[in-house]
Amino acid sequence: MPICPSCNYEYVEGITICPDCNTRVVKKKDLPKWEELSEEDWVLVYKTGDEVEVEMIRANLESAGLEVNVLSQKDHNFPAPGDLSIVKLSVRKANVQEALSFIQDTKQRQAESSDD
Ligand SMILES: [Zn+2]
Repeated sequence: MPICPSCNYEYVEGITICPDCNTRVVKKKDLPKWEELSEEDWVLVYKTGDEVEVEMIRANLESAGLEVNVLSQKDHNFPAPGDLSIVKLSVRKANVQEALSFIQDTKQRQAESSDD
């Protein structure tokens, strides 16, 4: 089954370009780690184009002892349309709630520090 690496939609055989985002679809088996991981107990908790932000959140989560997986589209071999350098951050299912509150916290502090 071809799958769009960008939207994660599966398409029927014969489709080569995702009708939604014009990304070249790939064979499911060619997908990078991300797809394997999402089939395990990893859950996507944050998605952004801001790599600095992701690094900050990752550092926060890791210092709290959570396992974090960051997947940047820049690692992929296929071309992304436009400037779609989306970074996905996922954690173990068991840590989702904790991770989300850390992310909230990080963003809040970010907003506060940009106030002055
Ligand atoms: Zn797509």
